[in-house]
Amino acid sequence: MKTITYKSTRDDSLALTASQAILQGLSRDGGLFVPSEIPALDVSLRELAGMDYRQIAYEVMKLFLTDFTEEELKTCIERAYDSKFDTPEIAPLVHKGDAWYLELFHGPTIAFKDMALSILPHLMITSARKNGNHNEIVILTATSGDTGKAALAGFADVEGTRIVVFYPKDGVSPIQKRQMITQRGANTLVVGIHGNFDDAQTAVKNMFHDRELEQELAAAGFQFSSANSINIGRLVPQIAYYVWSYAVLLAQGEIREGDPINVVVPTGNFGNILAAYYAKRMGLPVAKLICASNENKVLFDFFRTGTYDRNREFILTSSPSMDILISSNLERLIWTAAGENAEQNKKFMKDLAETGVYTLPEEMRAELKDFCGYFADEFDTADIIRELYFDEQYVIDPHTAVAAHVYQQYREETGDETPTVIASTASPYKFTRSVMSAIDPKYMEDEDFTLVDEMYDLSRVPVPQAIEDIRSAPVLHPLTCEREEMQQMVKRFLGM
Ligand SMILES: *Cc1c(COP(=O)(O)O)cnc(C)c1O
Repeated sequence: MKTITYKSTRDDSLALTASQAILQGLSRDGGLFVPSEIPALDVSLRELAGMDYRQIAYEVMKLFLTDFTEEELKTCIERAYDSKFDTPEIAPLVHKGDAWYLELFHGPTIAFKDMALSILPHLMITSARKNGNHNEIVILTATSGDTGKAALAGFADVEGTRIVVFYPKDGVSPIQKRQMITQRGANTLVVGIHGNFDDAQTAVKNMFHDRELEQELAAAGFQFSSANSINIGRLVPQIAYYVWSYAVLLAQGEIREGDPINVVVPTGNFGNILAAYYAKRMGLPVAKLICASNENKVLFDFFRTGTYDRNREFILTSSPSMDILISSNLERLIWTAAGENAEQNKKFMKDLAETGVYTLPEEMRAELKDFCGYFADEFDTADIIRELYFDEQYVIDPHTAVAAHVYQQYREETGDETPTVIASTASPYKFTRSVMSAIDPKYMEDEDFTLVDEMYDLSRVPVPQAIEDIRSAPVLHPLTCEREEMQQMVKRFLGM
C-alpha cells in the first residue's frame, strides 16, 4: 500500500504522517492538512457490496491512515461503531419519495457528527501513543450545536484528554443546548459565548495559532488538538459512509456496478460534502455533488458566481448547524482547484481574512464542475418537512429538510433522474420544535419534552436514548463568557 503523507494547504513542504496530522489538527501556518494524494479504492464495488459498515470503514481508512497498523485501525473501528449506535447497520439507507436518505444520526448524540467523533478519540489516543506523546491533549472546539455534544460524548473521561467546547449562547436548539450543559465527565468544560458560531470559531482558531499560548501549555504539560471538522481524523471516517451507501444500493440491486449516483449534502463547514468529493476521487461513481445551503447561502453564491463573499448578515435559521458564513473545509477544495498550489491558496485565504471576499479565476472554476449549489429558505424547509410527513409518514429534521428541498428543486430544474442519496444529518428528535410546528402550527406553544412525546405519536419512531437521558439530567455547565474571555476560561480550566 502506498504511504500517504500530509501537507498543509498553505505549505506544501510539509510531510506529516497521518497520526501526526490527527494529533496536530490544524497546520501551524493556519492551513488544513491534505493528503499527498487521494488513494484509489483497492477492492471492487462488488466486493464492497458484500461488506458490513465496519469492513467498509476499514477499506477506506486504511488507504489514508497509512502509518496505522491493521490491528490499530481495526481496534479503533470496532470501538467506535459498536452498540453506541442504535442499529447494527450503523447508517441505514431509507428509500422515501424519489430519494434514498442515508441516516447518519443513529449514534449516541443523534447527529451525523457521531460518525466521525465516535472514532476520533480512538484515532487520537493511538496517534499519541505512536508518536511517544506525553502531553495531555486538550480538545478545543467551537460548535454550532452538534459537534460540541458529539465531541463531548466521544472524549468524556477518555484518559489523557480534556475537552473544552464553546457554543453560541443563543444560536443552538434548546435540545442541543441541554445536551451540552448536562454533559458528565471530569475532563469536560462547556461554555456559552455571547456571539455567533463564526465568532466562536475565529477565537478558537486564534488560540490554535497563538505561539505564546502553545509554549505556556507545553510548560504545563498540555497541547491543543482539534475535534472540529478540519481534522483529517474526522474527514477520513466520513468518506466511508458514502462508499457504504453505494455498496448498499448495489447489494439491494437498486443500481448496477459502476452506475453513477448523485449525493445531496446539507452543508455548513463543508466537511461532509468534501468527504463525498474525496469518495468520488477514490473511484466511487458519484456524478453530482449537490451542496445544499440554508438562508446563509454563501456557498450557493460561490458555486454560481465563483465569488466567495462572507460580508453579509448572519441569519439564525431552524438548521443552526448550517448557520455558517466561513466554511473552513472549503479551503481544501480551493487548494485542489488551484492545482494544489499552496501559494495561490494562501492568497485567497488572505483576501478572505482581510476583506471577506475572494473570486476564483475561470480556469479554477472548471475544477468545481461536479459541484452545484442550491438553497432552501425557512418556508421551503418547513414545507418539505410537512410534505414528507403527510406523503410518506417520514419525519425529517430541518437540516435534512434543506437538502430534501434542494433535491426537489434540482430534479425539477435539471430532469436528472440519477439515483440520489441525501445525507440525513440529524434525528428530528433533536429539533422537535421546528419540526413539529412545520407539521402543524398547533404544536408551536408546547413544552420541549411534550413535543418529544407528540413526535413519537406522529412518527412511531422510538424516542432515542440520547433524548431520554437529558429529560431529567442536572445542568453541570452553566458558564457563559464574552469572546475576549475565552482564552482565560481555557486556562482556568487547566489550572494555569
Ligand atoms: C454539522 C452539521 C451539518 C453540516 O455539516 P458540515 O460538514 O459542517 O458541512 C449539517 N447538518 C447537521 C445536523 C450537522 O450537525
